[in-house]
Amino acid sequence: MTDTRTNLIGLDRDELAQAMAEIGEKPFRAKQLWHWLYHRGAVAFADMTTLSKDLRQRLDDHFHIKRPELVRELISVDGSRKWLFRLDDGNEIETVLIPEDDRGALCVSSQVGCTLNCDFCNTGTQRLVRNLTAAEIIGQVMVARDRLGEWPSGADGRKITNLVLMGMGEPLMNFDAVKKALLIIMDGEGISISKRRITLSTAGVVPMIERCGAEIDVDLAISLHAANDALRDALVPINRKYPLDVLLQACSDYPGARNARRITMEYVMLAGVNDREEDARELARLMRKYKIPAKFNLIPFNPWPGSKYATSSNNACHRFSNILNDLGFSAPIRQPRGRDIMAACGQLKSDSENEKLKAARDRREAAAG
Ligand code: SAH
Repeated sequence: MTDTRTNLIGLDRDELAQAMAEIGEKPFRAKQLWHWLYHRGAVAFADMTTLSKDLRQRLDDHFHIKRPELVRELISVDGSRKWLFRLDDGNEIETVLIPEDDRGALCVSSQVGCTLNCDFCNTGTQRLVRNLTAAEIIGQVMVARDRLGEWPSGADGRKITNLVLMGMGEPLMNFDAVKKALLIIMDGEGISISKRRITLSTAGVVPMIERCGAEIDVDLAISLHAANDALRDALVPINRKYPLDVLLQACSDYPGARNARRITMEYVMLAGVNDREEDARELARLMRKYKIPAKFNLIPFNPWPGSKYATSSNNACHRFSNILNDLGFSAPIRQPRGRDIMAACGQLKSDSENEKLKAARDRREAAAG
């Protein structure tokens, strides 16, 4: 028999109060539940020892606390971790933890697949299957905390200190669910990751950048990757709809951009494609022209099966970085993390998808004899 109970994960405070009203409970119950769900990380009503046995039973009759099903955990030689989840409808998503000395970023997915088809991105070769729900976005953070033993919220020395929406999908193409999930994650009486520690990365869905600033107000990262429209049209096709001029203007207008809250410009280093010295100088010129307090993040290209680009040489990366530095911009070269478990930037795509592609390739090759 299918479980028809409502999942409490993913409900905001008002919806939780409404759910309590539906079973004849007072609104303060919602506050108690919020604490158990998002501060303590309870996985079952039976654990909620401040509630009466009778209430726990009634909650269990009507609701459940459902996280996405964890099907695989991979740990890289560099300590990165990748978690593969299976959703209710059988779709799969991935979440990555990138630990550093004194902080750790959890890289969360927002969609199954992606619509944007960026030429160098593995996720982009998978068609969009669907948007994730708020529950599925929050669930990724909750299971990561389960695995690392990081409940209750607020303890010192946690591995997950930051959140980046840089997993599979384009978060601004799934604005409502992403907004709802982030507001729940930021709530100070719950998971409590502050908006200063959350970065949303977009390929440039310009109309939603303004709403992101006004309604969520997290830090912004832009997948820039090119210093002119001709090249960006080819690498990041959404540029044809929202070209550099409107994209950079939206960055300039982003709340806080004027108070030196910096916007991260991600730049994948593709050998012989976008790594010329004049590209670096043009980037600096653009940031000045649009008055964007930018910092660059130079990402050596991470290869994936079938990708057609190569990573810029170390020399080219350093030259590029130095030019930007000399022109006043921070531009560290990001160390690739978790490449051995296909967890690095742009490598995410559920294995079942990779296997399907590989099977199709094998069939084609067999047919070609
Ligand atoms: N759709 C959003 C969120 C994805 S973030 C966005 O585009 O910003 C993932 C980051 O990794 C993006 O900056 C993306 O451009 C970059 N990326 C994609 N494929 C990559 C690859 N093969 N190597 C390095 N970076 C890559």
